[in-house]
Amino acid sequence: MSPFSPPAPEDPFALAALRDAPREGVALLRHAITVAFRGRIAVVSSFGAESAVLLALIAEIDPATPVLFLETGQHFPETLAYRDALARHLELRDVRDIRPDPVILAQDDPTGELWYFDADACCARRKVAPLAAALAPFEAWVNGRKRFQAASRAAIPPVERVDGKVKLNPLAEWDAARLAAEFTARALPRHPLAMRGFRSIGCAPCTRATGPDEDSRAGRWSGQIKTECGIHAPG
Ligand code: SF4
Repeated sequence: MSPFSPPAPEDPFALAALRDAPREGVALLRHAITVAFRGRIAVVSSFGAESAVLLALIAEIDPATPVLFLETGQHFPETLAYRDALARHLELRDVRDIRPDPVILAQDDPTGELWYFDADACCARRKVAPLAAALAPFEAWVNGRKRFQAASRAAIPPVERVDGKVKLNPLAEWDAARLAAEFTARALPRHPLAMRGFRSIGCAPCTRATGPDEDSRAGRWSGQIKTECGIHAPG
């Protein structure tokens, strides 16, 4: 079986670029950054509860890899401080704040409360559109989603093709124990809110702490049908 299924066999772009790539997630990540998409790949990170592991791997492979952080304007102050501290700790050299278009925000969300009335519209303006623009120069991007995080993520493949770009999910098969072990082995700093029961951390208005019996992402858009912001919608 191909390690890249999906993407489907009719995806010649992804298959051609990664034909000789190793199967295992971290080796695949290294191959993508240093060989297949060298200089044409970015990482998208929320600098959330588990982000340090993927970012540590990136720093090890090439600390100059662009890291895109969606600065929605609605983050917890702890997340912004953690972003700076973690980037310094890992010596990441190209962390970029990706911001929404101020003209669009002034027009559609002048009070910053659109999340309350229409979370999908808010995510579209503060996350989805800015990321699409930021990814335009790149052929591939990396993210840190894992299958264990939620039922909606249970079938994440190692590689997909979305909106014409290759999308790598190198940690898709990792479980919570492996992540915890990596935090310990690398002595990675924790997000300050992770100590207070926040196992998945997004924008402040749309995130709550979760209990041990809940999915780690149950605190995102709690009480709504919405489970994803839209940047991971199927292509
Ligand atoms: S997570 Fe909430 S505040 Fe952040 S962009 Fe989406 S709806 Fe808006």
